[in-house]
Amino acid sequence: MNTAMSPSIYKKHLSRITSYLKKKGITVKLNSKEFTYSSEDDHISCSSKSQGSYEYICGLLHEVGHSRQLNSHFHNMKKSINRNRAIILEQEFSAWSNGWEIASELKINNKQLWIVYQKEWLKYWNHYIHLATKPETSAAFISDRVDAYPVLKSADPIHSFNRLPH
Ligand SMILES: [Zn+2]
Repeated sequence: MNTAMSPSIYKKHLSRITSYLKKKGITVKLNSKEFTYSSEDDHISCSSKSQGSYEYICGLLHEVGHSRQLNSHFHNMKKSINRNRAIILEQEFSAWSNGWEIASELKINNKQLWIVYQKEWLKYWNHYIHLATKPETSAAFISDRVDAYPVLKSADPIHSFNRLPH
């Protein structure tokens, strides 16, 4: 069940976040199938299902948090299942942490939002803990997931060449 938000507060929150994204050159699709962030084309999409709710604002802030990530603490280490698992959990945690930092900068960090934000953070981070550690999850799947995080590529000199603006 999503937590309903007053339409005027929702509008205010959404417009602060979208103008931040505009300034950063990140495009956003507000009525998509799921919440995602793609570093390759600097694009965020949001699940239309939760539009109008606190959960929607939280999901969007999490994706914005991904766009602001620093290099992983483990990016220089030889690839291994333990390293890759750690990166997934690190990246998913820090995206939530960054997302709240952005909410504070945009001055939308009110108590009601924080209550839902914490719940969503716990829920989705636990989802990744489970996914990354359950025996059925293949090492290949974990490795692909890690490769999708932008920060690792930018830390690699070969990839940073490819990422230069053209
Ligand atoms: Zn995420």
